[in-house]
Amino acid sequence: MADIKRVGVIGAGQMGNGIAQVFAVNGVDVVMLDISDEAAAKGLATITKSLDKFVSKEKISSADRDAALARIKTGTDYALIKDAQLVIEAATENLELKRKIFEQIVANAGDGAILASNTSSISITTLAAGTKNPSKFIGMHFMNPVPLMQLVEVIRGLDTDDETYNTIMELAKGLGKTPVACNDFPGFVSNRILLPMINEAVYALMEGVADAQSIDQIMKLGMNHPMGPLSLADLIGLDTCLAIMQVLHRDLGDSKYRPCPLLKKYVDAGHLGRKTGRGFYKYE
Ligand code: NAD
Repeated sequence: MADIKRVGVIGAGQMGNGIAQVFAVNGVDVVMLDISDEAAAKGLATITKSLDKFVSKEKISSADRDAALARIKTGTDYALIKDAQLVIEAATENLELKRKIFEQIVANAGDGAILASNTSSISITTLAAGTKNPSKFIGMHFMNPVPLMQLVEVIRGLDTDDETYNTIMELAKGLGKTPVACNDFPGFVSNRILLPMINEAVYALMEGVADAQSIDQIMKLGMNHPMGPLSLADLIGLDTCLAIMQVLHRDLGDSKYRPCPLLKKYVDAGHLGRKTGRGFYKYE
């Protein structure tokens, strides 16, 4: 598979652990880092639970699950990524945080390594500019939940070279995914279109047009969407939704992207969706 056999994943949250799982299941050695051993261990526990589900549905054997888990190392020390051929950053959606993470990646990864970000909206060109070799930098935007979703949106920064682009397209296919390429603009294609819809659903809720269940049902039954926009926002994480709207608003400079105040209020309250047990809905 595109000759990539050792990968580093930075961030062990819902996206990072999903990315780590997909690589490990496909025979790639993975190092998954987070800010604390607890956060990394939580990510590994999520992978174990997910692989157990695949075993119980007879999608993979228990031997495959054990082999995949044996390929994943976790920790907090960037020295662990020194042999990685590809490092994918999948930490919280915040430009300053990602910049600092890439400084540490550059200081620890080998010169030949491809660097990628799973960012939902932040400029790949800007992130690349903070690294030693912007031609080896690319956006590799997996969808949530990573083990189930088909698409990888591949984003070329201004300086991404053809070799890096071709390697990542081939790699995504080797993972059983369908890569689709686009250029580097705020929110790329997926979130340029999806997030304004979600934001508008939150405005509809705030203005009392309908309650959350009705908004979701109307969009599911009427538009044939598999999930309503408010359920989907809870799945994505309301902090991530707000961060994406802020990037669209700031970087495109159009007031139509202003984040809904109710979305900000939920984030300020710490109601971030499924990951905290409460967003527009409550979760066990
Ligand atoms: P999350 O909140 O589930 O996880 C983020 C993880 O990053 C946490 O475990 C946190 O501890 C870790 N982290 C924070 N600072 C760190 C640091 N300095 N070093 C290492 N780890 C650090 O968020 P997520 O949903 O997994 O999102 C991660 C990235 O993926 C974001 O850029 C987001 O925009 C993008 N993304 C999210 C979705 C989605 O549906 N949630 C889909 C595609 C892309």
